[in-house]
Amino acid sequence: MKEATIAAIATAPGEAGVGIVRISGEESLRILGEIFLPQRGRKIESEDNRRMVFGRVVDPNSLELVDEALAVYMVAPQTYTREDVVEIQCHGGVVAVKKVLHLCLQSGAELAGPGEFTKRAFLNGRFDLSQAEAVMELISAKTNASYQNSLKQLSGHLSAQVSGIRRNLLEVLANITVAIDFPENEAEAITVQRMKGFLESARTEVERLLSTAETGRILRDGVKTVILGKPNVGKSSLMNALLRENRAIVTEVPGTTRDTLEEYVNLHGVPLRLIDTAGIRETEDRIEKIGVERAVDWVERADLLVAVFDKSRQLEEEDHRVLALLSERKSIILLNKSDLKEIISREMMVKEVPNAMIIETSMATQQGLETFENAIKDLFFHGGVDLQHETVISNVRHKNLLQKTSASIGEALQAIEAGMPVDCFEVDVKDAWQSLGEISGDSVTEDVLDQVFSEFCIGK
Ligand code: GDP
Repeated sequence: MKEATIAAIATAPGEAGVGIVRISGEESLRILGEIFLPQRGRKIESEDNRRMVFGRVVDPNSLELVDEALAVYMVAPQTYTREDVVEIQCHGGVVAVKKVLHLCLQSGAELAGPGEFTKRAFLNGRFDLSQAEAVMELISAKTNASYQNSLKQLSGHLSAQVSGIRRNLLEVLANITVAIDFPENEAEAITVQRMKGFLESARTEVERLLSTAETGRILRDGVKTVILGKPNVGKSSLMNALLRENRAIVTEVPGTTRDTLEEYVNLHGVPLRLIDTAGIRETEDRIEKIGVERAVDWVERADLLVAVFDKSRQLEEEDHRVLALLSERKSIILLNKSDLKEIISREMMVKEVPNAMIIETSMATQQGLETFENAIKDLFFHGGVDLQHETVISNVRHKNLLQKTSASIGEALQAIEAGMPVDCFEVDVKDAWQSLGEISGDSVTEDVLDQVFSEFCIGK
């Protein structure tokens, strides 16, 4: 079946210098020819492949001018989708690009679905599924570290490792076939030992990849950090101090200012997702209560709790409630306002929470902030992530499939240990091979593909 020609706006919506409409498919050049009049008067078809041409976008029915634009066509297969691709660079903003897109649709293109350009690139063999997913991660990367990781995945690091493991499993499957076809006992004993070796090394590789998944999650989502403390200890000042130098992006402020706020901060490459809460306190105020409930809710889901105390005031009931929340959690205690008269000493705090990490800070003088930032880095990345050499699993789908692979290999190894005949564990090895194939997209159903690409944005 002939694939439809698709079109979409490829740039983000909003006021901008340029907006790009992208078309992909066999009809691309025809559509461009209908709606675009090159300034030089030559037909666009007679221009060179990949040459940028200046001209006017016009409505083919009324010949009404829609915008001035640059257009380029790229002939398959050296294009993003491996199909003929056209890109029209018109003025940005919300109106011009939409009008140009509308003309493309009017001339026969279909509106592209989410991720459809990238899906076609995958289906046409430009890259494997994990690389297609890396495109999405690259676009949504919030820090240099996650950007670097997705770039590595895009260039095929994960694909290479996955196919290496798959080769090992294929070797095992070939051995199983031989053992079934030629069931002489002696030969089988040797073969089973070989298979065990292949399976063990495959499992080691899978486990090694899995061990990076926590780092990957943090790279992707950020360290969910909740700042706790009674009113006036300096939580907002801390948040501002962190944001002043490291603000990455600001998310919408939901509800009121007393609700939880969320901001991304980039701490030497470690993304922190800072959640500023209304503080832990009981209140009759309904709005405030929402904030407090959120705070408690967030504490449960946080990766890191930062508890702030005022060093110049006695510990109160509310401080003890905060301390109680810290038990068994990754947390850092800040003894703030260290520039003022000391009432709570470090030693007193150690008595309260013997194993806690305690840092004295002053938001007034910025004292202790660097120590605090380094402490977070150590806590989560043990000083740093070696993204140069390590492939980090940052995609939940990949993590789940690797877990399935590991479990299937485990089953096969158990069967070997139990001295079961080879045909008993053939299915487990096939399952493992299959699960890995879902990462690369070699063995993947249409449903999974739809699911993966539905998370993309339109125009990508
Ligand atoms: P929050 O209610 O916990 O968010 O506390 P704020 O950050 O709003 O701080 C409350 C007050 O304490 C403000 O007037 C701050 O300027 C002040 N403050 C915060 N941190 C320090 C500090 O380290 N030293 C001094 N002297 N004042 C501070």
